[in-house]
Amino acid sequence: MMYQFFMIIASIVVIIILYKFAIKVRDKTVANKVIKFSLNKGRSSKANKKTCSFCKKKAKRLSFYATEVGGVVGVCDSCKPQAERRALLRL
Ligand SMILES: [Zn+2]
Repeated sequence: MMYQFFMIIASIVVIIILYKFAIKVRDKTVANKVIKFSLNKGRSSKANKKTCSFCKKKAKRLSFYATEVGGVVGVCDSCKPQAERRALLRL
């Protein structure tokens, strides 16, 4: 009886340790992904700098939206209503 009780306690402790370890590992991978993402973002925004995806004109300021196909478009202020009408997600 005492032995069974001990085994239950021991397995609970092991589960807690494993759970904490799993969280630590997951946090690390998430942090790495965020760093990679921000690096990629900086690079890609330099490549297609300040050109509206709709009218192809150069704009001082672009608003970025996610498209239904999973891409990202940058639109100028005059094309913004057009993007909103297409119900794109504002980033
Ligand atoms: Zn435009």
